[in-house]
Amino acid sequence: MALMSGYRSTTKLALASSQPSVKAASKQPAIQVSNLSIVFDTNRGQMIAVDRVSFDVAAGEFVCIVGPSGCGKSTVLNTIAGLELPFEGEILVEGSPVGNPRPDIGMVFQQPHLFPWKSVRRNIAHGPRMLGRSAKEACAIADDLIAMIGLKRFADAYPNTLSGGMQQRVAIARALANEPRVLLMDEPFGALDAQTRAVMQDNLLELRDRIKATIVFVTHDIDEAIVLADRVLIMSAGPGRILREVAVNLPRPRSSAILIEPTYLALKRDCLEVIRAEGLRAFNQSDSS
Ligand code: ADP
Ligand code: MG
Repeated sequence: MALMSGYRSTTKLALASSQPSVKAASKQPAIQVSNLSIVFDTNRGQMIAVDRVSFDVAAGEFVCIVGPSGCGKSTVLNTIAGLELPFEGEILVEGSPVGNPRPDIGMVFQQPHLFPWKSVRRNIAHGPRMLGRSAKEACAIADDLIAMIGLKRFADAYPNTLSGGMQQRVAIARALANEPRVLLMDEPFGALDAQTRAVMQDNLLELRDRIKATIVFVTHDIDEAIVLADRVLIMSAGPGRILREVAVNLPRPRSSAILIEPTYLALKRDCLEVIRAEGLRAFNQSDSS
């Protein structure tokens, strides 16, 4: 019980009612990426996947990275997660260099990758158990998160009995179970139908208001990026570079209703112009090579 009440007090801290202001980032950024380059050896020689990418993410900020398929979005995210080594440049998360995967960095992929033989509760409790929490404490953590993602009725269900959207909610809860300071999401709604995706976006925004994590979310869907983000980074076709940074100063809480707001449409037009010009450049380049 003592352990559980200990957990509850940290949960309260983590579930503050609102996010710190993005602009209040005179503090050290949560993520600092400086001159990141990644070269892969392929059977056609060396291929530059990511070319001198630099960006910072403030503590509590929600940044979306958009770019065409193959431009290096996953590679950038995996490198921040410590999954892609070696690389050139420097990446600091919460001030320390990345290397091996860290429990303070959570990751959600396009596929939920749940343990099929574990119930929803035990999937979510897995991380805390690995970090040395007792079974009782890990279950308490899982149950809080299950309530947060709205799946109380499914706590004992197995992944294959859940819809794709539900499974992805479990994957998000599982990533949050270690109370990560940084949450990296790689096209987490990419495999879902449009309706489920919209619901999941609203869910994530609600969740985001209750957790203190800094979020970097990769997508190729510009609408999704603008609805979710404080800032959108637009990447070029390979080799991946950051072409433009667009601040999304739309009020929160947001909902899909903003999709027809004039300010939203103006932002989207700006982004689309950059994307269209880049698409044309990449097309002409591939045509002439
Ligand atoms: P995105 O996520 O934007 O679709 P990726 O980061 O997956 O793009 O890939 C960027 C480029 O790097 C692609 O051309 C991809 O084929 C290549 N790539 C990714 N991982 C590897 C790897 N392990 N070995 C060789 N090439 C890779
Ligand atoms: Mg990818």
